[in-house]
Amino acid sequence: MALPSMRVGAVEVEGLSDGILKTSLDLVIGMDRERAESLVGGTQNGSFYIPVNNFLVRRGGKVILIDAGAGNTMQPTLGKLPENLRGAGIEPSAVTHIVMTHLHPDHANGLVDDSGRPHYPNAEIVVHETEVDFWMSENVASDEDRVKGNRARTRINLRPYLDRIRRIRDDEEFAGFAPVLAPGHTPGHTCWVLAAGGGGFMAFGDVVHLSAIQISHPQIALTYDLDKNRAIESRKRILDMAASEHLAVAGAHVNAPGFGYVVRKGSSFAFEPAG
Ligand SMILES: [Zn+2]
Repeated sequence: MALPSMRVGAVEVEGLSDGILKTSLDLVIGMDRERAESLVGGTQNGSFYIPVNNFLVRRGGKVILIDAGAGNTMQPTLGKLPENLRGAGIEPSAVTHIVMTHLHPDHANGLVDDSGRPHYPNAEIVVHETEVDFWMSENVASDEDRVKGNRARTRINLRPYLDRIRRIRDDEEFAGFAPVLAPGHTPGHTCWVLAAGGGGFMAFGDVVHLSAIQISHPQIALTYDLDKNRAIESRKRILDMAASEHLAVAGAHVNAPGFGYVVRKGSSFAFEPAG
C-alpha cells in the first residue's frame, strides 16, 4: 500500500493515519456557533470528526515517526497507526525514532499497548525538554485535574522508553529537525522544522486543531489549550512563519493526509493542500 506522501526538496514525508477523532464545536472559544458550524461544513448537534495524522520520514538510515497516535485509549475509531504502518510494509520495530510535537493523549497514548508495553520497542523518543519536564513533574495542589490526569498517563506512555528519551533544547536539533517552541496548547508544544535541500518542511502538531476554523481565524482558541492567549500568539506566529518561508506543513489534525502550504489571505491565512 503506497502512503500519501509529499516531497520536499530531497525529503519524502509520508502520511499515516491513526484514525478519526470525534470532536465538538463545544470546544470552540470566541466564535458564535452558527459561524463555526458553517466553517466546519455541517455537524451532528455540534459533533464532527477530525483526522489524527502521523508522519514518517526516512533519513540517513533512520526511520522517524512524528507523533504516535492515541492507541486504544480514546475512541474506537482511533489507534490504527501500528496496523497502518504494517499495511505499508513498515514493522513498528523498525521505527528508530519518534519525534513528539507534544504529549497529549491523541499523540502519545499510542506509544504503548493496552498492557503498557511499547509498540515501538527499538525507538528513541525525541521531545523538547520543556514538554517532557512539564508532564513528568510532580503535581502541585493548584494544578488542574486535566493536568494531573495527563501527567499520570504520560508516566504510563513513557515508562518503557525512560532510558531512551532524547530531550532537546531550543538550540539543538535532531537529524536535521530543529525545534520551534509554540507553547499554549501545552507548555512545550513544539513544531519541528526540517531544511530539506531546496525546500523546508514543518510538522506543526496542534498549532491548528480545527483546521476548518483556526487557519482562517487564528484568534480562535479551544478549551483544550492550557494557556489560550499563548496558544493564539503561537498559532499566529507559526502560520506567519509557514507562509513567509513557504514551508511545506504537516498538521496532526489538518484534513487527511494533512499536507500542504499555508498562504496569506487578506490579513489572515488559508491552506492549500499539496498534490
Ligand atoms: Zn491533537
